[in-house]
Amino acid sequence: MTSDFLDAGGGEDYLTVPGLASSRVAFAKYSISGIAGADGYLDVEGCTPYFSMCPGVARTFSLTSEVGLSNGAKIKVYRREGNIDVMGTWGMGFTPWGSTSEIFLTANGGATDSRFGPTLVAGQIGVIADDIVADPAADYRIVSSVPSAGGSYASGTYVALQATPGSTNPQDVDDSRWKTVIAHELGHALSRGWYGNLQLDYSGDVPSNPLCNTSNVTGAGTSHSLQSVEFVSIAVNEGFAHHVANRLMNNWWNPSPIFNYYKEVRFSWQAGGTPPTSPPISLPAAAYARWHKDICSDTAGGTAGVEWDWMNFFWVVNDTGSWSTIQQIGNIFRRACGTYPGQCNSQAVNWTGIDLGSQAELGFLSSQYSQVISTGQSAGVNH
Ligand SMILES: [Zn+2]
Repeated sequence: MTSDFLDAGGGEDYLTVPGLASSRVAFAKYSISGIAGADGYLDVEGCTPYFSMCPGVARTFSLTSEVGLSNGAKIKVYRREGNIDVMGTWGMGFTPWGSTSEIFLTANGGATDSRFGPTLVAGQIGVIADDIVADPAADYRIVSSVPSAGGSYASGTYVALQATPGSTNPQDVDDSRWKTVIAHELGHALSRGWYGNLQLDYSGDVPSNPLCNTSNVTGAGTSHSLQSVEFVSIAVNEGFAHHVANRLMNNWWNPSPIFNYYKEVRFSWQAGGTPPTSPPISLPAAAYARWHKDICSDTAGGTAGVEWDWMNFFWVVNDTGSWSTIQQIGNIFRRACGTYPGQCNSQAVNWTGIDLGSQAELGFLSSQYSQVISTGQSAGVNH
């Protein structure tokens, strides 16, 4: 697999080899104001090189969350304070003192600035990646699973995060603030604008097969997972959010985009009792898993689906061949809900509705429509 990340493929650091995606502040991008050449990446210890500084002169040490792409482009997930975009940066002012002329800075080893730190809570974020454009007028806010100090949140469109500000709980620190998780949650916030709300019922059909339920998931939300059989509307909605994350973390023309997952996954070769694979898990975003059809052999037909399959479907439909735009996909779902041109309002969708909606939106004779149908078949979601 190839990845667009100049990092471990986990999207969480800046290395070129896998294995260190769980590194915390190490390898975050840093800069120190007013010091020539003080702009690079922290080392494995989370330290800068030595720099000469004049005592008594105020400086700012900044860390930035950004993902470098192989073509030199950057994807930055940033927050907005007032009308100012803060590019995922954490800054700390300091003033060298005494006779010290040469110092180095160490980051807090427990901090997670190479992902997203607590400072992002209740901040605003925005993204731009080709046809995925956040409404610049919208007020997207990351919230935690606990109320803010005042017991309520300020107004805005919330990007839900199951994280607790300041928590040292490994779940909160290590999983929920992954850039891909935040991008996924942002995908949910954006989909509400593109097609509205689908019926969200996570109770679904729960097969006993551990390859097809959430029994593998520990330390993270267990209401659904990438491989669990769910109601179609949920699988569509979660698959779409995964797709937004994939679009934000990969160039659309990448033939082998990477999806980074933060929950455990039990692969088919682990069916015999081998423990599931622990996160971070890098998976091909576009290669058909056909999990529902080939692995789960689920018989619930038109009422069930798997997020993984729908994620694959969206990449191929949105980013290959006779691709459909995000806006067209949104319209297809509005039509599938029967609410077009209005937004979905808690309706359930199924393949028949998506097929008819695609005909209406793209044209029966169009190559785009043909691609939707063939992709539905290949991904195993056309039921
Ligand atoms: Zn989700």
